[in-house]
Amino acid sequence: MSYDDNNIFAKILSGQIPCKKIYEDDFVLSFYDINPQKKIHALVIPKGRYSNLDDFSINASSGEIVGLLKGLNIVAKKLGISIDTGKGYRALVNIGEHGGQEVPHLHFHLFGGESAGRMIE
Ligand code: 5GP
Repeated sequence: MSYDDNNIFAKILSGQIPCKKIYEDDFVLSFYDINPQKKIHALVIPKGRYSNLDDFSINASSGEIVGLLKGLNIVAKKLGISIDTGKGYRALVNIGEHGGQEVPHLHFHLFGGESAGRMIE
């Protein structure tokens, strides 16, 4: 699947569309989801042009992969939901049509601040 440069997260990354930023470094941008499903609902996205997790796993550099995984923990800590700063959270990635992915730029959802509930509703 080729990357769609007009997707909404590409526009957030380029600054064309605003977001409520939580954290940013060389590898990731994190911001609050516009339609939160839990008390805390953050998104963490890589800065590179990756459509989904499969694309990222195949094509991202080791630095980008480490940067994204480290970024998840940095954001969880910042939000007070990591294991050492809070009560934990759910990290979720939707991949493709059957995964329910709507925005074609890889993103991790972080749900916290309350129980995430059943794994699949
Ligand atoms: P997906 O279904 O692709 O895994 O999740 C896409 C997420 O992006 C949804 O939870 C949706 O609420 C969020 N979203 C869509 N458009 C925007 C936007 O313009 N800004 C922000 N912050 N979140 C968005």
